[in-house]
Amino acid sequence: MSFEPSERKSHKTRGGVRRSDADRFHDECGVFAVYGHPEAANLAYLGLHGLQHRGQESAGLVSSCGDRLLEEKGMGHVARIFKRRQVRRLKGDLAIGHVRYSTAGKSNLINAQPFRIDSCKGEIAIAHNGNLVNADEVRSGLERAGSIFRTSSDTEVILHLIARSAQPDVESAVVDALKQMQGAYSLVFLTRDRVIGVRDPRGFRPLSIGRLGNAHILTSESCALDLIDATFIRDVEPGEMVVISEAGLKSYRPFPAAPVAQCIFEYVYFSRPDSQVFGRSVHAVRKRLGGELAREQPVEADIVVPIPDSGVYAALGFSEVAGIPLEFGLVRNHYVGRTFIEPRQSIRHFGVKLKLNPVRSLLEDRRVVLIDDSIVRGTTSRKIVSMVRAAGAREVHLRISSAPTVGPCYYGVDTPRRAELIASSHSVDEIRRYVRADSLGYLSLEGMYRAVGEEQSFCSACYTNRYPVPFPEETRVARLAGNRRKD
Ligand code: SF4
Repeated sequence: MSFEPSERKSHKTRGGVRRSDADRFHDECGVFAVYGHPEAANLAYLGLHGLQHRGQESAGLVSSCGDRLLEEKGMGHVARIFKRRQVRRLKGDLAIGHVRYSTAGKSNLINAQPFRIDSCKGEIAIAHNGNLVNADEVRSGLERAGSIFRTSSDTEVILHLIARSAQPDVESAVVDALKQMQGAYSLVFLTRDRVIGVRDPRGFRPLSIGRLGNAHILTSESCALDLIDATFIRDVEPGEMVVISEAGLKSYRPFPAAPVAQCIFEYVYFSRPDSQVFGRSVHAVRKRLGGELAREQPVEADIVVPIPDSGVYAALGFSEVAGIPLEFGLVRNHYVGRTFIEPRQSIRHFGVKLKLNPVRSLLEDRRVVLIDDSIVRGTTSRKIVSMVRAAGAREVHLRISSAPTVGPCYYGVDTPRRAELIASSHSVDEIRRYVRADSLGYLSLEGMYRAVGEEQSFCSACYTNRYPVPFPEETRVARLAGNRRKD
């Protein structure tokens, strides 16, 4: 088979799609905000722990002590960045926080959010989850008009537009700025006396509202509310702006309505299973994806084995519907980091073995159904299938709890380029031969919709090549490819 994935290191175009060196999708970003609590920064710090799975490159906190904004940021995981004295320094009853996995802009401290500026509208800080598809174009126009950018992030464009807006107050300037942007944004803003939360009209990324006593919380996922004993109230609706101030929480609908396109992949992989996202339990949807997969792609087998951690809940659903026992035949090493020293002698499947190890006593002489959430380049699936076979499995059947990934995401999820996605150019049987499985079955798009309960309000562009907001490069690609789906 001709497909040979690129081994290039990560590289990213400004405002565009990242080229990743790992055979996985990467998380995006997470935002968190607190209004009206004496321990606002501390709560935001804890909230970021709850959102850590959405971004591990950098994290930051900004608080308002009433007369100025205070900030702390760093590279790496939340627990390693913030020391007790740094969080204590962030005084005030208002705070916002951000964890980042860069989907636009380089990975370095200057791009770590929240960003903070002092403008004629006062001090403003912003934290963003999503990707703005026209950021390069707007930025070029601003640069030609004299704006000087500090970062390579698409998010900074919003701050420049706010600062230049002719609107007299921050809320109107935020609306003015966002009306010029296209793409995906779930945003939290902090000023000296208020917190603002906004979701783009299509609602690509989640944003929820919670309460803790009299305090208001905004968060990318509800699992972060549980961590601080806050109560989930509701989602910020697509196209809604909430302003939280002394006057309480006020809701506005300042943007023209657009067809809702919430990211279906939040259920497949990104969101934590203990979160409530887009009005549904992630755990329940993920399990239903596995159940639908069992109905659509049945197989005679002895055991169902999840590829941990992402395949666990779908495997549970598959096992229940298929009536095949679930066994944890692959054990994940949670503590592995990057390895710089590799054995001189060739050890079979060494890279994958660092993360996963097969349980020989469970796999030996069994017909195994492996469950994963997706196949990106196929290289990791191929290694895992070989590893399970080498551990004694008689047959290895691979089942995927989503449709084939045929296109990259332009709305805030880090995906390899189209050419590196194996399903963009190969049939299911070609992929089966490449990964060396006895059989391979994907869930259909219709099966995914059945699992989430509807079709209308979801984006599924990475499975269909039908992009709800055209991306400049995508417009060209779609024209060339005739917008045709493979598989
Ligand atoms: Fe989600 Fe895929 Fe749409 Fe991106 S393209 S928003 S990953 S469904």
